Amino acid sequence: MTEKNNLLSLHPETLAIRAGLEASQFHEHSQGLYLTSSFTFDTAEEGAAMFIGQKPGYTYSRFTNPTVNAFQERLAALEGAERAIATASGMAAIQACMMSLLKAGDHIVASQSLFGSTINLFSGTLSKFGIETTFVDAGDQQAWRAAVKPTTRLFFLETPSNPLTEVADIAAIADIAHEADALLVVDNCFCSPALQQPLKLGADLVVHSATKYLDGHGRVLGGAVVGSSALIEPIYLHVRTAGPSLAPFNAWVLLSGMETLFIRMEKQCASALELARWLEAHPAIERVFYPGLASHPQHALAMRQQKLGGAVVSFVVKGGREAAWQLVDGVEVISRTANLGDVKSTITHPASTTHARITQEAREKAGIVEGLLRVAVGLEHVDDLKNDIARGLC
Ligand SMILES: *Cc1c(COP(=O)(O)O)cnc(C)c1O
Repeated sequence: MTEKNNLLSLHPETLAIRAGLEASQFHEHSQGLYLTSSFTFDTAEEGAAMFIGQKPGYTYSRFTNPTVNAFQERLAALEGAERAIATASGMAAIQACMMSLLKAGDHIVASQSLFGSTINLFSGTLSKFGIETTFVDAGDQQAWRAAVKPTTRLFFLETPSNPLTEVADIAAIADIAHEADALLVVDNCFCSPALQQPLKLGADLVVHSATKYLDGHGRVLGGAVVGSSALIEPIYLHVRTAGPSLAPFNAWVLLSGMETLFIRMEKQCASALELARWLEAHPAIERVFYPGLASHPQHALAMRQQKLGGAVVSFVVKGGREAAWQLVDGVEVISRTANLGDVKSTITHPASTTHARITQEAREKAGIVEGLLRVAVGLEHVDDLKNDIARGLC
């Protein structure tokens, strides 16, 4: 076993680079990649002690691996948490959280503007196992309160929402959850800990799709749940038993991505704000959704709760689907793909991709109109992004 860095008094920018590093007897400077499924014991007695948790040490990579451990420690440090458990993807993190903390008969209250697969997990898979979900408008605190039942155990919130960037008040919703003796879980994928630390605002657990901003380069899938040791322990035991574990190679890639998290987020948010302002002034644009704009309905809350407005800008072009598709087809720099969180900017038409499986009526009600486009701003020069978008607007 190796010595741990104890760096928790340092700034988050430093933790993103230094926290969790675990060097072997070779004193390597970069985090080592431990591609091994199992670890050996010196004696049978030592093996026995390690398996029942009497002696610390690595046994099997489904639940203990030094590279994965380094990722967990670094993410926990960034979220200001005691502990993190890594998972194979963001969805595996959400699933592990629900499977370990809830049982048949329990009830979830969740914001309605969630990542599509999260909605499917709640209303499909979990409901099949007797866990029901009520979806509410995230900004309507009365609706959260009214949805509580005697069986409510957990609140689930994503803020800002995708693609309309609605911002919900984490502290206020945490209070409502705690009055109901329920836990608040926040999906912090859009902001990353560089912009928002939900645990400090009263949330009990944070889930991540590390696939997005933590990697930052669109390379690997990964996820994590972060929180107090007491809440993470049952989730760890579930991952240990059920196996939705993060691969050491992916953890190693994520660790290098996290080293540049802060500088990427700052630059991507600055470019997003500039792009949002430019779009807002463009005559071919009907409306822009970006928390950093004064015109955003929850601008004041966003600026209180998040460090910056985020890197996702959504906007409605005049002329409906035809105009939106023309813009999408016209881009030569921005990638036509539904992913986000990459240094490469991406553009998506939500009505025909991420939200295509719901009815037109439900889409319109959710504000996913035919002219809506979502740009996840990367690290290219912002003028190149403006020119790329302008090409499709004339
Ligand atoms: C992508 C995403 C997820 C799911 O993460 P995967 O790593 O793709 O499984 C969950 N929540 C949000 C907000 C996401 O954007």
